[in-house]
Amino acid sequence: MPRPIRLHLHPDALRKNLLQVRARVPDARVWAVIKANAYGHGVATAYEGLRAAEGFALLDLHEAEALRGLGWRGPILLLEGVFEARDLEICSRLDLWHTVHRSEQIDWLSRHKTQQAHRVYLKLNSGMNRLGFAPETYRTAWTRLNSLPQVEEITHLTHFSDADGPRGIAHQCALFAEATRDLPGERSLCNSAALLRHGADPAVAADWVRPGIALYGGSPDFPEHRAADWGLSPAMSLRSELLAVQSLQAGETVGYGSTFVATAPMRVGIVACGYADGYPRHAATGTPILVGESRTRTLGRVSMDMLAVDLDPCPDAVPGSPVTLWGESANGTRLDIDDVAHAAGTVGYELMCAVAPRVTRV
Ligand SMILES: *Cc1c(COP(=O)(O)O)cnc(C)c1O
Repeated sequence: MPRPIRLHLHPDALRKNLLQVRARVPDARVWAVIKANAYGHGVATAYEGLRAAEGFALLDLHEAEALRGLGWRGPILLLEGVFEARDLEICSRLDLWHTVHRSEQIDWLSRHKTQQAHRVYLKLNSGMNRLGFAPETYRTAWTRLNSLPQVEEITHLTHFSDADGPRGIAHQCALFAEATRDLPGERSLCNSAALLRHGADPAVAADWVRPGIALYGGSPDFPEHRAADWGLSPAMSLRSELLAVQSLQAGETVGYGSTFVATAPMRVGIVACGYADGYPRHAATGTPILVGESRTRTLGRVSMDMLAVDLDPCPDAVPGSPVTLWGESANGTRLDIDDVAHAAGTVGYELMCAVAPRVTRV
């Protein structure tokens, strides 16, 4: 028998989460963001659950190829655009829409021979300062692109740095409105946090929204809001079992470094899950975890293949008892990935993407 750890995927949750997103921005079309192997869920699972989206947005050409292989004939958008000139051949062959964020990408396009003109997303750097044309160069880039026979349609794109927090999006919206004023074309602004928190603002619920994390059932602004506050359900559940049960006396320790010391006699469960499965090593003693349907806590250091849990709240637990690391137990008890991430000093996004290939997908 293989190690009992499994990643359960829930295409139905993807479907429901897409409806929740649509309810926030009923007039927008949805790019389902499936970069990073669909945030760890797998492109095939994402396609199964999200094919009611108008398009799929991603970064890697091989993921675009996989999606076409699954039979998707609708729009696919490359969020970082092409990385070298010959990637444009693949865009032509697979009919990919692509982002243009720096002038070399326009040079490559101007020399590209294609039967079919491309749909292009022109990216404005409105303050994130990762990708995009500065506001003062944006119009020049647009005019150049617009003159190319290789380009059929230009959409205006920007990305928010603070949609999940107190700084908000108003300053970037103002820059975007100014830089794109009087230019024809559709617009795309919102990620999950922006559409959930600001979707009622007509300035941002533009033609295309780009949700990622919300579709997978993570909260983009935890701990201010939990996933359930946004009506979102987890699309993955990481489950395993107890491999062993130990009885500790007061003063005894568990795991490497003896960082947890029992203050009284207690039962400790050893779970078949460690950092080599993608569980965060920095999850401190006290990270929430389910044994059966009981919420308990981790103890001591996470090791490569195992971690320890407090069995005081679960007197019936024995070797073989089910454990839920995040998501939902087989009986539907929920443990938010955001709670686990928070205890490890990270975000749900990172945990979803980090589930190791050795974990069997179900
Ligand atoms: C990843 C990404 C998104 C999705 O972000 P979420 O926070 O997961 O909703 C949207 N737009 C761009 C450009 C991205 O890179």
